[in-house]
Amino acid sequence: MNSDLVDNFSRTISYLRLSLTDRCNLRCRYCMPEDIKGGLQVLRHEDLLRYEELLRIVNIVVKMGMNKIRLTGGEPLVRKGVMDFIDALSHIDGLEEIRLTTNGVLLHEKAKGLYNAGIRKLNISLDSMRPDRFKAIAGVDLFHKVWQGIETAEKIGFDVKINVVAMKGVNDDEFVDFARLAVERPFQVRFIEFMPVGNDSTWDKATYISSSDLEDIVGEMGELEPLAGRRMDGPARVYSLQMKNGQTGEVGFISPISHHFCDTCNRLRLTSAGRLRACLLHDREADLKSLLRNGASDKELQELIRQTILDKPKGHTLADDQANCSGQMSRIGG
Ligand code: SAM
Ligand code: SF4
Repeated sequence: MNSDLVDNFSRTISYLRLSLTDRCNLRCRYCMPEDIKGGLQVLRHEDLLRYEELLRIVNIVVKMGMNKIRLTGGEPLVRKGVMDFIDALSHIDGLEEIRLTTNGVLLHEKAKGLYNAGIRKLNISLDSMRPDRFKAIAGVDLFHKVWQGIETAEKIGFDVKINVVAMKGVNDDEFVDFARLAVERPFQVRFIEFMPVGNDSTWDKATYISSSDLEDIVGEMGELEPLAGRRMDGPARVYSLQMKNGQTGEVGFISPISHHFCDTCNRLRLTSAGRLRACLLHDREADLKSLLRNGASDKELQELIRQTILDKPKGHTLADDQANCSGQMSRIGG
């Protein structure tokens, strides 16, 4: 591994998350609430990095030694031309894996193309399996469309992870249904602690539920056995859930607040505004887009990436002060 990827705390930053757009076809109330003060602000098209600019950056980080990227957003699949972009990414030598985080709305139509471009792993976000509640959380009545996308992805043979943001009083009565889904279908289901991100965050203490409480709820259903050596699962603590009837499934718990995983964080983010961000929960960003558009050489871009890695904070402090991180989640990409 190239030493350019090692930060000041000996973490190797091997993974880039690209937020392709801050636009979305859903309006999840914890991410893009419709009633946001002053209206929802989205970037102008010219403020997004163009695909050729993104390809140039990916080529540079791959030369620096990164081998994995994740496409996110906003909703990455709503960006025009995204399939050709993914195809171009798949031809970059040294880029071993492209992963995608999606809300699943457009997955049924696009799954085959994604598979043909070499994507094998999908994270699909789903906070409720009840159509009415899905609509109440996501703002749009599209549960059936998402479910169709999930089933198509399963049929095609993707490795599917379902991400559930756990919210007390909102979807807590479905945690056992989601855990059962992990047993009945070949999906790893991961519960994510609700985070206070964005100035207009709907986060509050009453809605937050910690991973340990979640583990207790899921643990009631059967035996939770930690799966060792699963570093590629990123920040999730992953368990095998063995039900009393002998069936098993995989469940994961992502605890950015209660047990933060900053010590092993290996990621760098490029926001849809073209800014490099070393920590999701820390507002410091470097303006890569301006440098790029002012005619910077690859070497200069590489130096900014290197500096951002060196400046990566040791960790975040949300658990201590519950301060909001002001960046907009749909721009940062989660
Ligand atoms: N639109 C895509 C999707 O929903 O999967 C990709 C972008 S979305 C910002 C990425 C992930 O962040 C989703 O799984 C979403 O549920 C999660 N997320 C957004 N806001 C969050 C919050 N405040 N706390 C925890 N997770 C959040
Ligand atoms: Fe869109 Fe994903 Fe944010 Fe929901 S979480 S509004 S699907 S970007």
